[in-house]
Amino acid sequence: MKIDLHMHSSCSDGELTPEALVARAKEAGLDVIALTDHDTVEGLARARLAAESEGLTLINGIEFSSRWGKIGVHVVGLGLDATSEALQEAVAAQQAARVERNLTIASRLEKLGAHNIYQRAVDLAGGTQIGRPHFAQLLVEDGLVKSVASAFKKYLGAGKVGDIRQQWPPLIEIIGVIRAAGGVAVLAHPAKYRLTRTKLRALINDFTEAGGGALEVISGYQPSGLARDLAAMANEAGLASSCGSDFHRPGGVWQELGRFEAMPTNARPVWSLWPELAALGGHK
Ligand code: AMP
Ligand code: MN
Ligand code: MN
Ligand code: MN
Repeated sequence: MKIDLHMHSSCSDGELTPEALVARAKEAGLDVIALTDHDTVEGLARARLAAESEGLTLINGIEFSSRWGKIGVHVVGLGLDATSEALQEAVAAQQAARVERNLTIASRLEKLGAHNIYQRAVDLAGGTQIGRPHFAQLLVEDGLVKSVASAFKKYLGAGKVGDIRQQWPPLIEIIGVIRAAGGVAVLAHPAKYRLTRTKLRALINDFTEAGGGALEVISGYQPSGLARDLAAMANEAGLASSCGSDFHRPGGVWQELGRFEAMPTNARPVWSLWPELAALGGHK
C-alpha cells in the first residue's frame, strides 16, 4: 500500500486542481492520500468526489501556518471533520491574517521596485488564496530576480523583508483547533526549519505537550538516515510518524507524489491511529 499524507492543490499554492491532483495520485500508484492545502479546506469536497470515482482513500487534511516564538512552523492536521465549527472559525481567521500579511508583503516589495504587485497577485491567484509563491513569480516577471528560488533567497525566505509571520497564531492554538476538529496534529517537515538539535528537541517537546500527535519524518526526497533519526526523536517524545511528498506541481523532482522512501522500520506510523488503515499495512 502506498500512502502520501502531504500535498497541495490549486486551492492553495499547488498547480493542479483537486481533480487533476487525485488523477495524478492514482497514476503514481497511491492508495491513500491526504490533501493538505495551506490554511484552507476548500479543495476537500472536490478531492473526495474524485477520490471516490478513482477508488482512492482520501484523508481530510490541512496545513496550518503557525508560530513558535519567532519561528514560522507548519502543522498538518489529518483526519479532521471539515465541517467542525472550530476548524471553520480558524480557517476564516487564517484567511483574514493572510490578507493583512499579503498587503504588508506587497507594500514592502513595492518599495523595492515591484509594481502594482498586490493586484497582480490577486489576478495570478485567480480567486484562490495568495501566498509567497505568487509574489515570488511576480518578482521574476519584474526582472528583480532570475528565479523563484532566488526570490525566496533574497526577499521572501526566512528572515527576509517579505517574510511576515507575526500574524500567525501560536503553535499551541493551532494544535487545539485540529484536535477540536477530531484530527491528529502533525509537525510538518521538521528538518526545514534549520534548527539546532537542541532547538528541534524543544520544539518537539512543546508540540507534544500541547497535544501534537505525530512528526513528519519523511518530507519528499531527503538525505538518507534522516527519517530514521527523526523517527527515533518521535518515539522518544511519544509521537507517531507521518510521511508525505509536499507535492506542489509536476516537474519538481524532490516533491513528486508518492516518491519517497519506505517508512523507517523504527517508526510507529500515524495510520496506526486509524484502525481501518492500520489493517491495510503501510507505505512500502
Ligand atoms: P506562504 O504560505 O505564503 O507562507 O508561502 C509558503 C510557501 O512557499 C511554502 O509552502 C512553499 O510552497 C513555498 N516556498 C517556501 N520556501 C520556498 C523556496 N525557497 N523556494 C520555493 N518555494 C518556497
Ligand atoms: Mn506551499
Ligand atoms: Mn510547509
Ligand atoms: Mn506543504
